[in-house]
Amino acid sequence: MTEMATDRWIWRDGEFIPWADATVHVLSQSLQRGTLAFDYMSVHQTEQGPAILKLGPHIARLFETGRIMGLPLDYTPAELESACIDAVRKNPGATSLKISALIPSIEVELVPQDPTVSVVIAAYDSRKDIIDKNPGEMPHAKELSLKIERSISNRREDVIPAQAKVAANYTAALFAKWRARREGYDDILLLDDGQFVAECSTSNIFAVIDGAIVTPPENRVLHGVTRSSVLAIAPAVDVPVAERDLTVAELIGAQEVFCTGTSVGVWPVVRIDDKAINGGVMGPITRKLRDKHRQIVSGQDSAFLDWLTFCN
Ligand code: PMP
Repeated sequence: MTEMATDRWIWRDGEFIPWADATVHVLSQSLQRGTLAFDYMSVHQTEQGPAILKLGPHIARLFETGRIMGLPLDYTPAELESACIDAVRKNPGATSLKISALIPSIEVELVPQDPTVSVVIAAYDSRKDIIDKNPGEMPHAKELSLKIERSISNRREDVIPAQAKVAANYTAALFAKWRARREGYDDILLLDDGQFVAECSTSNIFAVIDGAIVTPPENRVLHGVTRSSVLAIAPAVDVPVAERDLTVAELIGAQEVFCTGTSVGVWPVVRIDDKAINGGVMGPITRKLRDKHRQIVSGQDSAFLDWLTFCN
């Protein structure tokens, strides 16, 4: 049983309620059918106060998920952006921001007759409020080992497109990740149905080939906000970029490999299956991009200040 953080406030449909009261019934539609749409943002404590990274793009992605699913979201993006800012103000020290749109009602039919969508926003400190309170929870590994998952492809595009950040989209990857964990890997790498490299369970992937960073094209993967950040940062640190199909052989033979995601930023991959990447240590281009990204998110690069929404 997951222990509750006690002193946090959750924004729910326009009002703040205590963390422990932010529950839904076990028979709620989104829980039973996996129809919860969500997005996850990071909050950074900067010299100018707490700031949400790329708030606009994250909220836009939530609306895109809603559009793909046909989920009626009864808000404007501006309303949800200001609710996120309020949630950060209400919860000092937050490092994480999760926004979820769910159908809380209990439905008789598979297709809800009158889907009422509830939006909840939780701002919290992932270490103090979650990891420290749950002995089973582990902080993210600093360097990743990946197992290539060959039995399932990235997504069944005809079922749920990769661009929809909806709970049901994560189940197949989660099962595969459990299997990989038992073999000592941190995460899985999914291929697309043409056997090209796609993405990991909750991050996008890049290979460094001939000094340039190469990442699979957008139509095959979740539109990672950190992925687009890295594509924007790379020219600023003189690293060429390419978005193109990437084979497994190219990935395994790459000079460096890294993943990107909101929770960790730029994340070195040091092993894929039984092959060490860059001798099993983080490579120089990964480090350069990771450091630049860290500098930007902490508000120390004036050229990228508009990526941050200050909440004080
Ligand atoms: N792919 C998947 C499947 C994900 O769940 C995530 C995490 N949101 C990412 C990629 C990385 O996206 P972002 O950089 O926006 O966190």
